[in-house]
This record gives sequence, C-alpha cells and structure tokens, in this order.
Amino acid sequence: MSEEQFDLVVIGAGSGGVRAARTAAGHGARVAIIEERFFGGTCVNVGCVPKKLFAYGAGFAGDLELAADYGYRLGDWRFDWATLRDNKSREIERLNGIYRRILDQAGVTIFEGHGRVEGPGRVSVDGERTLTAEHILIATGGKPFVPDIPGKEHVRISDDLFYLEALPKTVAVVGGGYIASEFASILNGFGVTVHQLYRRELFLRGFDHDIRAFVAEHMAAKGVHLHFNTDVDAVEARPDGSRSLSLKGGGELIVDEVFYATGRDANLEGLFADGQTPALNDNGALRVDDYFQTTMKSVHALGDVIDRVPLTPVALAEGMWLAAHLFAEQKPAGPLDYRNIPTAVFGTPNIGTVGLTEEEALERFGTLRVYRSSFRPMRYSLGDIQERTLIKLIVDDASDRVVGLHMAGEEAAEITQGFAVAIRMGATKADFDATIGIHPTSAEEVVTLR
Ligand code: FAD
Ligand code: NDP
Repeated sequence: MSEEQFDLVVIGAGSGGVRAARTAAGHGARVAIIEERFFGGTCVNVGCVPKKLFAYGAGFAGDLELAADYGYRLGDWRFDWATLRDNKSREIERLNGIYRRILDQAGVTIFEGHGRVEGPGRVSVDGERTLTAEHILIATGGKPFVPDIPGKEHVRISDDLFYLEALPKTVAVVGGGYIASEFASILNGFGVTVHQLYRRELFLRGFDHDIRAFVAEHMAAKGVHLHFNTDVDAVEARPDGSRSLSLKGGGELIVDEVFYATGRDANLEGLFADGQTPALNDNGALRVDDYFQTTMKSVHALGDVIDRVPLTPVALAEGMWLAAHLFAEQKPAGPLDYRNIPTAVFGTPNIGTVGLTEEEALERFGTLRVYRSSFRPMRYSLGDIQERTLIKLIVDDASDRVVGLHMAGEEAAEITQGFAVAIRMGATKADFDATIGIHPTSAEEVVTLR
C-alpha cells in the first residue's frame, strides 16, 4: 500500500473541512482532504443552499397574490416543481465544481473515497492507500436521526425532499425544530397540505417564547395544520401508496408522504478502525476540548460531528480557528467565542435571533426591560393579506445592555445579522435609541422601540 505524508489530513469536504483545509494550506501546511459523497457537504448539497432556494421559490405564491394589490393582472399561473428542482440541482452541481476548484487552487490534495482513521497519524482512503499526517481533522458532519418506530422504512428524511420525483398533495412533517419548521413552511408555500406534528406543547424549543407563539399563529393562519402534543407510534404503507400514521394516545392521520426531521446524529460511520474510536459525548458526538482535540492524540474534530452549534458559519469559524491554532505564526489569543451567535429559521415567517431569549436573560440578570413591537409591514398595506412582524428586544436593566434581539417576519434573517455586530460589541439600549432609523423600513423599528 502506498503511503503519502501530509501535515494535515481532513476527512470530510463540507463547510468545516473545506474551510480548515484551505486556511491551513494558506498558512503553508501540506494538506489533503478526503470526500466520499459531495464537495461542499450538507450545507451546499442537501442543506442551507437548496433549502434557501426552495424557500425563495415557496415565497413567490404569496408575492404573486400581493402583486394583485399593486395592480398586476397576471392571469393563470401554476407552479412547476420539476423546473425548480432541476434548476436547483444544476446550481448545486456548479457549486460542487467551485468547491473543488477552491481546494485545488489552495494547493490542497484531493482524494475521493471513504476516509478511515487507522490510528494516531494514519488515515486510509477506501482501504487502498494510506496517508500519514501530523494532524488529522474529522469534519464528517451529521446524518438525519429517525426514531425507531414500526414502519420507519416508510418515512422520508430531509435529503429526500431535494430530489422528489413529484410533489405530494399531503404530507406529515414530524419534528418541531429548524428543519421541520422550514420544510412545513416551504411545502405549504408550494401548495401542499401540510401537517406538522410535534411531541411537546409548542415547537421551536430554545427560541424566545413570544416568537414561537407568534410563528405558530402565523403558520396556522397560512394553512399549516399544527398538531402539538402529538407523537407517532407507527407508520404504515397503504396499498395506494399513501401512509397511515398511528398517533400516540389514539388517532390516525393519512397522508401521501411522511418527512421526519427529528434531529441529526454525528456521522461516525466506518470512520475509525476497530478499537480506535475516541471518547464520545452522551449524544454520540465526538468529544473535544477547547482546542478541538479529541481524546486520540493529534486527532481533531469540528462542525456537526462535535454537535456544539450545528450551523455552517460556526463550522467555518471553527475551521479557521483550528487551522490558525495549528499552523499560523500568529495563534488565536484564546478559544473560539460561542456567545451571541445569530441564527435564523427560514420559514414563513422568517425568524432572526441573536443573544439571550427572555427566559434565559431573566435567569442570568434578574431584572430586564423587554420591548416589543408587532406591526403590519408597509408592503402589505394596500390589500387584505394579513402579514405581521414581531420584534422583541431584551435589555439587562442594570447595565442597559441589549442582550437579545428576536424577530419574526419578512427579512428577519437579513435584519438580524447587522444588529448581531452591535449586540456583540455590547451596545446599550441608549445606543440603539441614539441610532437614527432608515425610513420607511421594518428594520427601523429596532431602533425606535420605546
Ligand atoms: P458537513 O457539511 O455535513 O460535511 C461533512 C462531509 O463529510 C460530507 O460532505 C460527507 O460526505 C463527508 N464525509 C462523511 N464521512 C466521511 C468519510 N468517512 N470519508 C470521507 N468523507 C466523509 N446551517 C446554517 O447555518 N444555515 C442553514 O440555513 C442551514 N440549513 C440546513 C438545512 C438542512 C436541511 C440541513 C440538514 C442542515 C442545515 N444547516 C444549516 C446545517 C449545516 O448544513 C451544517 O451545520 C453544516 O453543513 C456542518 O458542516 P460540517 O463541515 O460539520 O459537515
Ligand atoms: P433540531 O434539533 O432543530 O430539532 C429536532 C426536533 O425533533 C425537535 O423538535 C425535537 O423535539 C424533535 N425530536 C427529537 N427526537 C424526537 C423523537 N424521538 N420523536 C419525536 N420528535 C423528536 O434538529 P433538525 O433536525 O431540525 O436540524 C438539525 C440542526 O441543523 C439544527 O439544530 C440546526 O442547527 C441545523 N439547521 C439549521 C438551519 C438554519 O440555520 N436555518 C436549518 C436547518 C437545520 P424536542 O424539542 O422535544 O427535543
């Protein structure tokens, strides 16, 4: 078996792996990367990118309705799923090529195949060649988790949505997190009858309570059938191809397709030779310290496989941090800062959020000032479409610092990004008040809350 020597071997060319590889190469390291499925990983192929394209697509139905209030007479229109799906796939192929080229241009050696850690400093590719390296980086991401219920084989996962042959007429989306909520909104936008099933009282656990309630109300008004306190006992395939869901506590729901979006597990499939698996956390993710070091010497891990904050920009930040820590002349001053990570849910309405929820801030600071504004965006003022936006600002009373911004409504994700800088810098409510708004916008509401 041939052996090749590198400073860093990265397993997984997704968000974190590609960024770590290029950055390390930029610092002068000899880097190899191994990818077995698709360049760009989950985000580019079956995550952020195609999902956002579909979210744009789903939004057009509402825009076309709104256009009538502005005098447009569009006549009959219909949505053609195959056009969107195939245009999306073409764009993803283009991005795959770009990711490959970026790695090539950075001088990273690419291996296509399955990477496996044989021991400290040794990685095999498809069991056919061996790479030796001073450092190994595991960036193998995650994979959908579906609970073990009878009929599990009859459900689909998020990957499947991106390649559906035809759009179903009715679906059940099981789960109440990011993916389930985005999928429910997207499919609803395409005209599919959507039932979203969530096991507890109110979905989007972890987000600010007012935002969760607002989004539930809004999605229900848009026609998504929300079934809270509802879980599934079993799924059955019916002779006509439809699916029957037996609900816990009784009841049945019949739909064309069932999508499970009940979280993701760390992807460790065939990743370590027998007896070589480093320590895992309770949730099955690889355990790492502040320096992304696993319990195996010189083996590092980051991104979804460590399941700290499974978001692409976090994997990118971790990749850049680790590459600098290992190979740069100027090392990072301290561990990566995970505070105030802004995030969004690209459903209808969008959620944008940064900092602490009201519940978290109350626990941390005791006395708060909470500012809320719920309004109808000007874009909708000419007709009957009931579209609203909610903005909520959480202020620590003692210091006057804004410690949380939560928004649900159009452009919430775009608006939140800029305010994340201010919140990270420790801006006070007085700073927000002293900032002059841009009129007329929804964003100006953030600086005019009183
Ligand atoms: P990944 O991007 O998953 O990359 C891992 C790579 O490793 C894959 O290419 C895989 O093929 C490869 N691999 C695995 N095992 C091996 C092996 N043994 N050998 C060789 N190669 C291997 N995040 C956001 O910030 N915004 C969003 O809007 C967003 N939307 C999402 C929507 C969906 C439907 C999903 C599923 C996720 C979404 N995410 C989003 C999360 C985001 O995609 C992930 O956080 C991000 O991709 C994690 O990057 P990573 O590098 O850790 O892993
Ligand atoms: P999430 O962790 O967001 O949500 C999982 C959902 O499934 C929760 O509602 C959870 O309920 C429920 N659940 C878990 N186990 C079971 C079970 N056994 N039976 C029934 N329900 C169950 O995971 P997702 O899969 O939605 O997304 C994975 C990650 O990907 C996200 O956490 C996010 O970081 C990232 N992502 C980011 C996006 C973005 O940035 N816009 C978009 C999509 C994904 P409970 O609340 O009770 O635990």
